Amino acid sequence: MNTNTALCLDTNILLNLFEPGRYETVTFNKFLTAVLTYRCHLIVTDQVLIEWQRHVNKTQEDFIEKNKINIDEYKTLIEYLDSEQEIREMEGILEKIKRMENRKYKYNYGNRAEKLNELMSDSNYTKVVNRTNVAEKILVEKSIDKEAPFFYNEFSQSNSKVKNESADASIFFTLYDHIKCGTINYDNIYFVTDNKKDFSDPANPSKIHDNLSVFAEEVNLIFSNNLKEVLESLISTDEEILNLFDSEESMNQFLIDRYFTNCPNCDAEVHLNADSYVGSGPPHTQTYWLKCKQCKHTWDTGDLVHDYY
Ligand SMILES: [Zn+2]
Repeated sequence: MNTNTALCLDTNILLNLFEPGRYETVTFNKFLTAVLTYRCHLIVTDQVLIEWQRHVNKTQEDFIEKNKINIDEYKTLIEYLDSEQEIREMEGILEKIKRMENRKYKYNYGNRAEKLNELMSDSNYTKVVNRTNVAEKILVEKSIDKEAPFFYNEFSQSNSKVKNESADASIFFTLYDHIKCGTINYDNIYFVTDNKKDFSDPANPSKIHDNLSVFAEEVNLIFSNNLKEVLESLISTDEEILNLFDSEESMNQFLIDRYFTNCPNCDAEVHLNADSYVGSGPPHTQTYWLKCKQCKHTWDTGDLVHDYY
């Protein structure tokens, strides 16, 4: 499907979309609606795709590990308890808190990451553009000239002002060259990033750096450091937003034990609703299947989707 708008995203925007507390569920739903209803196409450079793939799982593992460490700290209190029974109770409670925190993270933010992964690997929604020779050439020139913002640090207080952000430079100049050549061809093309140190005017993060604005203007690339604002220009009323993700509060009501089972393959927890899908086949034989997030194993629950009798 065609659209007249392109959203070129920097890696940090994608990662922040599933960072707890960063974007409300309604904003995430708005983003999904914009993409799934072709208000815009997503454009990422090969560099962004590599960075995304490198960080998407690691970010989630790190969060869960940090949770575990925080909760384990309470275990030091156990030595002050004096009965075996109290100790066992305390250990049980801490394990339970850990489990609930993990579920809360996985089924709110982990699910967002999964959804983003799906969109990024679907060419109906996401177009990946590769680094070009022209981009490479500009990047080398800027690096030899030690030019801000990618190769000269205007923020640093130290004497060494030289820096090397060739990855960011590659993202920007790759987009520039593809727009110039017409391989990225839309009426409105946004470049959205949260990285103010490498793209913005040092005095004003919502403005693109002077040394980049000439390139952006040449190809009508609209710079933004505010995804929410860009989404508002694509979807003006909240009624248009598809309710694809439940709010954290309502999802959290379904995190108690009875909504979970264990994967027969790896024993990880699997959610009876959130991890289920309808199997293939004619409607009267269709059953619910479950998919393990951990090992991707799938199995048939045998429960019919349509109970005719
Ligand atoms: Zn499994």
